[in-house]
Amino acid sequence: MTASKILLLIIDGVGDRPCDCLGGKTPLQAAHIPNLDELAKTGICGIMDPVAPGIRAGSDTSHLSLLGYPPQQYYTGRGPLEAAGCGIQMEPGMIGFRANYATIDDAGNVIDRRAGRIADTTEISAAIRDGVDLSKYGVTIRFEPGTGHRAALALKGSGLSAAVSSNDPKATGIPPKTIHPEGEDTPEAKFTADVCNEFCRQAAEILKNHPVNLARKAAGQNPANVVLIRGAGAMGVYEPFEERHELSGSVVAAAALIAGIGSSVGLRRVPVHPDTPLAEQVSLVLQELATRDFVLFNIKNADEYGHDGKAMEKKEFLEKIDKELRPLMEMPDLMIAVCGDHSTPCTIKEHSADPVPLIIHGDGTRTDHVSSYDEISCAAGALCRIRGGDLMPILLDLIDKTHKYGA
Ligand code: ZN
Ligand code: ZN
Repeated sequence: MTASKILLLIIDGVGDRPCDCLGGKTPLQAAHIPNLDELAKTGICGIMDPVAPGIRAGSDTSHLSLLGYPPQQYYTGRGPLEAAGCGIQMEPGMIGFRANYATIDDAGNVIDRRAGRIADTTEISAAIRDGVDLSKYGVTIRFEPGTGHRAALALKGSGLSAAVSSNDPKATGIPPKTIHPEGEDTPEAKFTADVCNEFCRQAAEILKNHPVNLARKAAGQNPANVVLIRGAGAMGVYEPFEERHELSGSVVAAAALIAGIGSSVGLRRVPVHPDTPLAEQVSLVLQELATRDFVLFNIKNADEYGHDGKAMEKKEFLEKIDKELRPLMEMPDLMIAVCGDHSTPCTIKEHSADPVPLIIHGDGTRTDHVSSYDEISCAAGALCRIRGGDLMPILLDLIDKTHKYGA
């Protein structure tokens, strides 16, 4: 029997380097992960350079690569992908931005870049979406809240450019910056900078005396009274996943960036909150797999422990993930690929180009002698060392979906 469905399970930032506090082992080597080890033992293993050897992939460029969209050809910046991940219907040419709420004092200086860690910005985001009027520029906006103090903005209109700077001062005690052309000095960049500055001005005006902020002030909390935008990018054109790979698909991801990459290529976006328990996320994945051919499931947090240099916590989190995988392993008719989107070694607190360990598991795959899931064991596997762009073709072949090349 050949499987007909694919689960691509990406443990964000899973790869690592030897850590002193783990006796010279990587978090994966040190972790007790019997389910992942079983997948390794009964599947075929290897290591993978998400983009190419020596390239320190970001989560965005890596996910594009793994989904079969070469980032060199498709990547246009983080903004439009975040915007799509927050639920904005991005159309080619629209300019997307990451946004976040912050607090300014009466003198106009930023005093809190996270607006008192405001938890829910639904209401004030709606006020901005409905209240900001850029019609004199011939521009319309989309604005959606993200998790916590985060949000996303998109501009639609003609003559727009993504070559603009950010108003984020990246420090407190100083006012937000004026946005200006960046990277190119064209009339379009100048026009877009003007549009952005006007958006920020009107947004601050709306936020100033908004009931949500008056209530926050009364409660001694920092108001969300300014919007900082960054990461401008023009939305690209993506061949739909279903046409490219002949598979229907969904994305289950707590990170807006990843959900946005999925929806940009045409996967159905199943939003989960970063605090959604893993077991619940797994049931959502199973639900999607019941009706779809492909699910991209990104598990956040291992990456964050890497960025924080917390090797022990990363190991423990990997153990937590392992405990929840059983229902996925028991699903019939499924080809499972487990990997990371890049390594985030606790020793350097950043992404590195170290290849990530990979398992492919499902009926009919060859098996090798690898019996544990970690960076070193998998390097001895029969998949050897592949690139991220090789993954989809290999998976499609294993579910008999590739077409013969030649006679
Ligand atoms: Zn990542
Ligand atoms: Zn990261």
